[in-house]
Amino acid sequence: MSFIVAIDGPAGTGKGTVTEILSKKFKLLNIDTGATYRCVTLDMINKKIGIEELDKIKELLKNIKIELKIEDNKQQVYLNGENVTDKIRSKEVSSLVSQVSSIKEVRYSMVDLQRKMAEGKDVIMEGRDIGTYVFPSADVKIYLDADVEERAKRRFKQNKEKGINMSYVEILENIKKRDENDKKKEIGALKVAADAEVIDSTTKSIKQVVREISSIIIEKKKQIKQTKKIYKIRKETAWKKFVRKIVKTILKTAYRIAYRVKITGSVPEEGAYILCCNHINYLDAAAIVLFNKRKVNFVAKEDLFTHGILDWLGHLFDAIPIKRNMQDIEAMKRCLKVLKNGELLGIFPEGTRKGMEKNMKAKNGAAFMAIKGKVKVIPVGIHGTFKPFSKVYMNYGEPIDFSGYTKDDLDKATEIIMEQIVMLTKKED
Ligand code: C5P
Repeated sequence: MSFIVAIDGPAGTGKGTVTEILSKKFKLLNIDTGATYRCVTLDMINKKIGIEELDKIKELLKNIKIELKIEDNKQQVYLNGENVTDKIRSKEVSSLVSQVSSIKEVRYSMVDLQRKMAEGKDVIMEGRDIGTYVFPSADVKIYLDADVEERAKRRFKQNKEKGINMSYVEILENIKKRDENDKKKEIGALKVAADAEVIDSTTKSIKQVVREISSIIIEKKKQIKQTKKIYKIRKETAWKKFVRKIVKTILKTAYRIAYRVKITGSVPEEGAYILCCNHINYLDAAAIVLFNKRKVNFVAKEDLFTHGILDWLGHLFDAIPIKRNMQDIEAMKRCLKVLKNGELLGIFPEGTRKGMEKNMKAKNGAAFMAIKGKVKVIPVGIHGTFKPFSKVYMNYGEPIDFSGYTKDDLDKATEIIMEQIVMLTKKED
């Protein structure tokens, strides 16, 4: 899986400089998407193609060859084999590029190229629409902003160093015009992605901005590492089975010392079933797992796996981590696989502890899995105070068959499951 950092924002915010430093610091391939649009613009100027000559532009796009290369530690831009690193920054190109990049065909073609350039690589991509359009699921999204006058001043200084002759007023007007044009583009308009971190660089030095983005990247990398660890499937081995048996015996004994567990009903000895249970205490899932002869693969919120011992136990008992408040496709796939293997899956339809008490609507995940996986649901009602030495009642109901139900009946199926669970929580012998 590649790692993608998107740096978006208007011209003159320091995107280019910051991106170059970060690409070296984090060993990320630097892709300047603005350069790709500048290349198309330069190619059009060279070939004397006007902005309205769509057929000629399409033809140009078919044959254009744009390459970004690192030479002597600096990014170099090649257009059809020629080094155009400086030429694409000229006044003519800068004045026309925003209009060129608004042409739908140009956008599709360049976005395609940018995605190909990034394929399978860890990249930092600088542009206007990276976090919103090119890579909407980028790992890190930054939107760099700054006052327009400050941006014009910076660009003026930069141009002077590069020997590009443009007055401050000219640059300011050009930037303002480009901003306006970039914001109203039909595709890939300049806008802040909902999940982007906005950094205003008006009064900040490049060093400060780099430091801020660096800590965001470091934090994200840590998160990714953690998620990988959580989601890692530990293979079933004879040793794992053995350890699980020993741990189960020890914990079960401890549980029996702490509580008087009363169980009614049971789970069939074979076949796939979904055990759906109410959630009143952290220890109720443990009761289901420990007091079942068969292994119950419980779905558990992913933060549980960030605690050392719980992470270890979770993996030992093949608990399935799930991201809450979103559709966790990976977790769903793992649940369906468990059912396909003829195993038991444990779910709290309430989604959280004491969901029913809090009047929360039960989640449809269990019903979805039952219908999609074509398996029956066994409702389980647990109740007790969980005070030391008190009674914990665990009542298993009859399997509920949802064959004939479709995905349009999810609410109805969930309601039936919850009704059964509520009934079973009232049973005390
Ligand atoms: O970043 P730079 O100023 O070199 O970009 C030149 C122009 O290319 C921008 O003003 C914008 O019109 C266009 N562009 C774009 N989408 C991107 C990058 C640049 O439309 N992702």
